[in-house]
Amino acid sequence: MPTSPSRLFSDIGTSQRPIDTKVIMRRAIVLGASMAGLLAARVLSDHAEEVLIVERDGCDVDDGPRPGVPQGSQVHALLPAGQVQLERWFPGFTSEAIAAGVVVPPVEGLRFYSDGALRTAPPVEPVEQEAMLVSTRPFLEALVRHRTMAIDNIRFVIGRAEGMVFDADRVTGVRYVPEGAGTEDVVSETADLVVDAMGRSSRLSDWLSENGWPRPPMLRMPIKLNYATALFKRDEQISDVWVAVSTSSPDQKRGRVARIGGFHVVEGDQWIMLVSGYDDDRPTRSVEDFTTRCRNDFPSAFGDIAERAEMIGEVITYHQADSRRRDFHKLDRLPAGLVAAGDAVASFNPVYGQGMTSAALHASCLSAYLRSDPSLDEPARSYFDQVRVVVDAAWQISTFADLALPHVDGPYPPGYKLTKWISGVVFAASMTDATMNQRLDAVTTMRAHPNTLMRPSTVLRALWLHLVRTRQSKASAAVDIRAAEPNSSSATQ
Ligand SMILES: Cc1cc2nc3c(=O)[nH]c(=O)nc-3n(C[C@H](O)[C@H](O)[C@H](O)COP(=O)(O)OP(=O)(O)OC[C@H]3O[C@@H](n4cnc5c(N)ncnc54)[C@H](O)[C@@H]3O)c2cc1C
Repeated sequence: MPTSPSRLFSDIGTSQRPIDTKVIMRRAIVLGASMAGLLAARVLSDHAEEVLIVERDGCDVDDGPRPGVPQGSQVHALLPAGQVQLERWFPGFTSEAIAAGVVVPPVEGLRFYSDGALRTAPPVEPVEQEAMLVSTRPFLEALVRHRTMAIDNIRFVIGRAEGMVFDADRVTGVRYVPEGAGTEDVVSETADLVVDAMGRSSRLSDWLSENGWPRPPMLRMPIKLNYATALFKRDEQISDVWVAVSTSSPDQKRGRVARIGGFHVVEGDQWIMLVSGYDDDRPTRSVEDFTTRCRNDFPSAFGDIAERAEMIGEVITYHQADSRRRDFHKLDRLPAGLVAAGDAVASFNPVYGQGMTSAALHASCLSAYLRSDPSLDEPARSYFDQVRVVVDAAWQISTFADLALPHVDGPYPPGYKLTKWISGVVFAASMTDATMNQRLDAVTTMRAHPNTLMRPSTVLRALWLHLVRTRQSKASAAVDIRAAEPNSSSATQ
């Protein structure tokens, strides 16, 4: 019987360290040394005599945001499933990160708001081995880079990848220009396996096409997301909140537009705060605009911090036009010796915080592929089939929610209206029922596949709770009507 996506997703997200690793190649080359590339290199170090990472950005990772990762100044949250993978590949990572300054916020310091109201859902049981790690993006990446570079058989060069070397049915190496060299000084390196981890603007599709291979089909959903982020010196006199997330859903009748804001306490006793808008609702770099949005569009803690805490540096904006995925699994012709990971495969609306965790789960897929005794002379189809499960899960969550935005008009998945109704019922049930909240939380934090929410036991529980709620509100409406009647007992007393 074929394994279900939910089951596969759960296997990919395992915390178990592999014990059956063996070296099956001489050299692997990873293009890009951000989250996806570093994690892929870590996995490959178990299977290759040598791993070479080629990264174009020569900036010191300890110096904060770097040009190669322009989104690095924006708020980044690591989902628990991502933390589990970091701990899996770098044992002791969690305690090391905490010792270095990564924050684990106390439960009483968390606030989640939905349409202006504090979300008071039943608490979610803590999961063994999971911790909520909060930091700026560059700080987390630097920790991962240091652990990766401490591995003996991983080598690092600074250079801009310019293309791949193709021979018959496979990729046999890469071409890159080392830092400081001219374009005529291209260096070629051979490899048994090449990983594209060059992010969402990767040129791999062009390189494939220039060499007679089909481009992976690209699916885009235009989201037109606008972010603005600022750092503040933390001051407990101003707010005792450690993490706040506030979402508002669009509602034309109430004149409400979709906006997400959030802030976290991060390393160095700072708050990092984000405001966002869609389409032509664009936060600017002006401090006044940032502060006004915090005060007017979000719960009071946002305005208090923006108005009274000391801002460090400037407001930094970012625009992301679309969510996009490259469906390598659909290609009928694909060269051997090539895989892609992270945003190079798919990048989503960042408000759902799925990117780094997806990259970590792709590394887990790579490990499963390399442990399956693959022939490296064949295309890595089983790798891309597993990656597809991860991409589908993240895509389902993010694009489904984004279809509710007025400026987004598809593509709609089959059964959209019914699934939307069931999801609404599940979400409402999660506000009062601990089991439902636990199941929803597992999906939004990428510990479980979204299909798990459509299991009969979950849907029936949600429907039953919906029925109970509807009956209760009808009964209390009837009581209100009776109480309001002039000859009712309460009115005559
Ligand atoms: C505004 C915003 C907020 C986000 N918030 C979150 C969040 O809260 N949580 C979360 O998990 N994710 C978030 N993400 C997504 C997250 O940033 C990405 O998913 C993650 O960085 C993916 O990593 P990656 O390694 O695939 O690609 P990238 O981080 O984009 O890195 C690509 C790397 O490749 C290198 N490179 C590119 N071209 C070449 C070349 N030709 N030669 C050599 N090297 C090259 C670059 O220098 C870079 O180092 C957010 C994204 C955005 C835009």
